[in-house]
Parts: sequence; structure tokens; C-alpha cells
Amino acid sequence: MEKAKIVIIGAGIIGLAVAAELSNSNDSVYVFEKNRRTGLETSSHNSGVIHSGIHYPRGSLKAELCVKGNSMIYELCKDYGIPFKKLGKLTVAVGDDEIRELERLRKNGEDNGVEGLKLLDTDEVRKLEPDIIVDRAIYTPSTGIIEPEDLMNHFLTKIQKNRATVAIETEITHIKKNDDGYELIGISVGERFSVQAETVINCSGLYADRVAAMAGMDIEKLGYRIRLCKGDYFRISGKPPVKMLVYPVPTRDGLGIHMTPDLSGSVRLGPNTYFVDGIDYKVESSEREFRDAVKRYLPSVVSYNIHPDSSGIRPKLKSQDNSFRDFIIKHEEDNGLPGFVNLIGIESPGLTASPAIGVYVADMYENDIKR
Ligand SMILES: Cc1cc2nc3c(=O)[nH]c(=O)nc-3n(C[C@H](O)[C@H](O)[C@H](O)COP(=O)(O)OP(=O)(O)OC[C@H]3O[C@@H](n4cnc5c(N)ncnc54)[C@H](O)[C@@H]3O)c2cc1C
Repeated sequence: MEKAKIVIIGAGIIGLAVAAELSNSNDSVYVFEKNRRTGLETSSHNSGVIHSGIHYPRGSLKAELCVKGNSMIYELCKDYGIPFKKLGKLTVAVGDDEIRELERLRKNGEDNGVEGLKLLDTDEVRKLEPDIIVDRAIYTPSTGIIEPEDLMNHFLTKIQKNRATVAIETEITHIKKNDDGYELIGISVGERFSVQAETVINCSGLYADRVAAMAGMDIEKLGYRIRLCKGDYFRISGKPPVKMLVYPVPTRDGLGIHMTPDLSGSVRLGPNTYFVDGIDYKVESSEREFRDAVKRYLPSVVSYNIHPDSSGIRPKLKSQDNSFRDFIIKHEEDNGLPGFVNLIGIESPGLTASPAIGVYVADMYENDIKR
């Protein structure tokens, strides 16, 4: 049987970022990916936003790793010539309730260490974005956009330079714990295979709960069950109505239908939020839902043509009462699985946080796991 020091299951942006970091100072790092290419799932079905970190509760991994990841990504872009645009974002409020929520958000952002936040009135907003008509907004200068594929390619190049291995069309189907670590069994390019790993890092995105269950974990009891939460996008045809990112104040269900320019300037609306039973990227929502949501802050949307664009699926961790769930990034030693690390529920801001998650997991490996 083949032997590996570290096996990472899943080559989305998180598995790639973790592998890029770990292979800096470790030999024998393998990444197994079931698809015919890396990054074909959530990592290529998202908004491509480099988030600032204003949304997440203080002290959470989401807040810490988003704020760190935000500045790390801009550094990487500058150092390696990765295209990006630091466009800035407006989070807009209409009515007193939303203004109160906006003020809470600004305080939260400042507590999380997000710099340069400014509260703007109606006229100040219109100077920046003439078609946006709202009562107040927060301006966040550190929000930007990137093409996720470019960042994944950066991590892949680093992995190849460090002589680690990415095996595509290789799906792990069984995990058996033994005295030397874990035997991973699966199918690689149509053939059954197995590998013995000292350390296993589960970065399998929408399947991360299933992979944890393969290793024998009670995912219900541990709160690791994932629900698939889809978001559709529509695209505005013709001249873009905004240059910056424009978001409504968030609701309990998520960030709300927002406007995101891509690197070419073309603007997408969305994503919205609804739960699904299976993985299917067909846009299922109505144009009306999108127009009505955006009309509240961009009245001129009625005169634009919009058409279905794409969708993505979030790996949402279940919570009893719709309350906040943080990323799970955990060495499972206390659950009887030394050397097994779970990354579960890595929804937004996972893309932004990815380089910081790489460093976080590499530190965990060096300090708690390495023999
Ligand atoms: C609609 C939407 C919009 C988003 N927008 C943003 C944004 O603007 N900014 C931001 O920061 N974040 C955003 N995110 C979040 C971000 O996209 C994710 O956090 C990130 O892509 C998760 O990456 P991942 O590697 O964990 O998952 P994935 O990309 O899903 O990768 C997991 C990989 O594991 C593989 N795999 C699974 N099981 C196995 C197995 N048994 N054997 C082998 N391989 C396996 C899969 O094939 C897959 O390639 C968004 C997410 C969604 C859904």
C-alpha cells in the first residue's frame, strides 16, 4: 500500500490553500479530488468577492480569518500579478430599522478590525453611485473582487513547486482508522486504490459531513450535518448601473440580493437563499424576485434587462434556531481521531479566508499533530 504523511481530501480553494501552505515545510503531501479538474464545485460557483469582515461576530473564526485573508489576498495579488480590483462596497439602508442595523454593522466591523469604514448620507452615496437612492450607507474601502480561478491557480503553482501531488479523478469512499493513522480507500481513474496516511485533512466542501461520517464520526451529535443552501444569480445586460459593490443590510437569512461587478465591469445580482435536496446548478428563481429586491435601493433597475446567469450551493451547518454557525476547523483528537482534521461548513467568506485558513491549519499541524 502507498504511504503518505498528509492527505487532503478535496481540491477546492480550501484544500489547495491548505496543501500550498503545508507543502512549504513537509514532504509527502497528497491532495485527492474526485472530479476531473480542481475547483469545479463551490470554489467556482461564487461571487468572487474579497470580503472585508464586517458581517461576522467578533471572536469567530469567520471574522478572524476573513480580516486576515482579505489583506493576505491583496498582498498575493500584488506580489504575483494576480488580477483584482479593490472597488469598495456600499451597504445601504432604507428606513429607520435598517439605519439602526447599519450602525450595529459598522460597530461590529470596527470591533473586528476592519479599517476605514464611513457612514454616508443620501447625497454622499449619490456622489459615489448616482443611481443608488437610500437613506444611509456604510462605505467599506477594503472590499474587492478577484477571479477565484486565478487564486486557485496560484495555490496550484505553489503546490507543484513544493513537489506535492494533486490526484484528480480520485474519490475517497472509505476511511479506516488503524495504529499508524488512517487507511483511505477509493477509486482512482476507475481503479480501486488505497493509501495509508498519518494525517487526514477533510476539505471536501459540500460532502465534508459525509467524509467525517466515513471516519466514524456521529455527525448528528457533533452538529456537523450540512444542508445544501442554493443561491442563484441574474446578470444585468448593457451598461453597468454601478461601479462598486452594493449590498442591502443583511437579514437573518443571509447577505440579501446584492450587486457585484466582475473584473470586466459587468454586474451580477444575487445570490438569493433557498434550501435544496440535491446538487444542481440550474437557475430556478424568478426574475421578479431579483428585480423587487434590488428596486429598493436601485429604482432604475426596472429599465434594465436582466437574465439568469449562474448559481452556487453553500454547505450550511444546521442550527436549531437559524443562529450563527462558525467555520468548523478542528483536530478531532478528542473525538478519538488523532491526526484527523475536519473543515466543515466553509461557506462565505471561505474564498476570502482561504490563505488564512491555509496558515491556520499548517500551524495546527505543526503544533498539535506532527510527530
Ligand atoms: C453562492 C455562493 C457565493 C459565495 N461568494 C463568496 C464570495 O464572494 N467571497 C467569499 O469569500 N466566499 C464566497 N463563497 C464561499 C466560497 O465559495 C467557499 O467558502 C469556498 O469555495 C469553499 O471551498 P471548498 O474548497 O471548501 O469547497 P469546494 O470548492 O466545494 O471543494 C471541495 C472539493 O472536495 C471534493 N470532494 C468532495 N468529496 C470528495 C471525496 N470523497 N473524495 C475526493 N474529493 C472530494 C469536491 O469534488 C470539491 O472539488 C460563496 C459561496 C457560495 C455558495
